[in-house]
Amino acid sequence: MTSRAIRATDAADWDLPDDTIMAELNQTHDPARRSWVASANDGQTDFPIQNLPFGVFRGPGGEPRGGVAIGDQILDLPAGLRLGLFDGDAAIAARAAAVDRLNGLMGLEPKMVSALRRRLSDLLSAGGPEQASLTARADELLVPMADAAMQMPAAVGDYTDFSCSTHHMTRMGGGVVRPVFLHLPVGYHGRASSLRVSGAEVRRPRGQFAGPDGRVVYGPEPQLDFELEFAAFVGRGNALGRPIPVAEAEDHIFGYCLLNDWSARAIQFYETALGPFLGKSFLTTLSPWVVTHEAMAPFRARAFAHPSDNPPIPAHLLDDADQASGGLDVRLEALLRTADARGRGEAPQRIVATNFRYIYWTLAQMLAHHASNGCDLRPGDLFASGTVSGPGDEAKACLMEANERGQRTLHLPDGETRMWLEDGDEILIRGRASREGFVSIGFGPCDGRVAAAPTS
Ligand code: MN
Repeated sequence: MTSRAIRATDAADWDLPDDTIMAELNQTHDPARRSWVASANDGQTDFPIQNLPFGVFRGPGGEPRGGVAIGDQILDLPAGLRLGLFDGDAAIAARAAAVDRLNGLMGLEPKMVSALRRRLSDLLSAGGPEQASLTARADELLVPMADAAMQMPAAVGDYTDFSCSTHHMTRMGGGVVRPVFLHLPVGYHGRASSLRVSGAEVRRPRGQFAGPDGRVVYGPEPQLDFELEFAAFVGRGNALGRPIPVAEAEDHIFGYCLLNDWSARAIQFYETALGPFLGKSFLTTLSPWVVTHEAMAPFRARAFAHPSDNPPIPAHLLDDADQASGGLDVRLEALLRTADARGRGEAPQRIVATNFRYIYWTLAQMLAHHASNGCDLRPGDLFASGTVSGPGDEAKACLMEANERGQRTLHLPDGETRMWLEDGDEILIRGRASREGFVSIGFGPCDGRVAAAPTS
């Protein structure tokens, strides 16, 4: 990972399906819309009025409650309800979104969530009929993000981690990818209890692994790694025994976030007889704002093109509309800041630049596959894509790819070196969706800092 290898991925040459996305656009995506919340209009924020992601926050002295990100502010949904700003379907959705977990919102009919989004967009629009009365009550309606602590957005009943980058699996496999990855979206059941939002400390785990002399030891993980991933929250669920057709799968996706699947490689590779277990379950970080499926409409893309000599897509995972626009064009980055760099006051250094379009299977295919045996999915369940690696060196989205499975020391731009993560290292994951003619939106932070292993 030299400085030569960490240039940004240029997504400008992606082939985008204009005709298939236009049908899903509405006034909430209008690039001319501006907000009376000034920080939403600076062109840099992740949260312009075209985004409107949902989250759960705790304000000063308050209970955890639902809110919507706008610029550097949070629209406090309980306050909005007290002010009588919602009616009809939007009010039903606002009540479901105002509480300390968004599972109820996620389980609603998409049209009700959409009604709330339209109302929020109108309320926050500059020049609207309610601007004067709302700006007069801004102190009641808005909480500065700087004064809020973000919480888990949902009570995640089940968390599933897929592994859907053939680039990742090829490098992890030393140049070959097992055929199963080309026949279906491979995944494993992750651990929901140790999911945490951005900012939570990541304590280096202790575990069993093969030591240098080959004997199995129990101790602090020596090969701590990260995995840059993209994740989706399940919306409406399905009854046990009733698969979800791939053509309907997107109707069951509520929204998206960023995820870091912290990985203890020595533990993982010693223990893996059935699949990942303690090498992954010590902690998983996610970004706290859930960007809705509707907000992503302008950034849809063709599904990843499977090479012509790969196995055909099985019929139950093949849908023309999904192939035409089931991909998402999201630029993703990981940045590293070491303890020394932090002490010198330096900014984090980018070590990964990739794009979600490199993922071999669409999110609809992952969800349809998940339910294809009759397994029931529930509102607020979370599934992640797997490490979002691409073909270039800059798109190696974990250390184990970049260090060629522990064979090559990484030289950071500021002169430090790394093989694996050290105590005090921070990994920051960022995502941004852009398309010419639309306002770019982001996902907010997905950050974690490594702390020393417990002493025993
Ligand atoms: Mn993973």
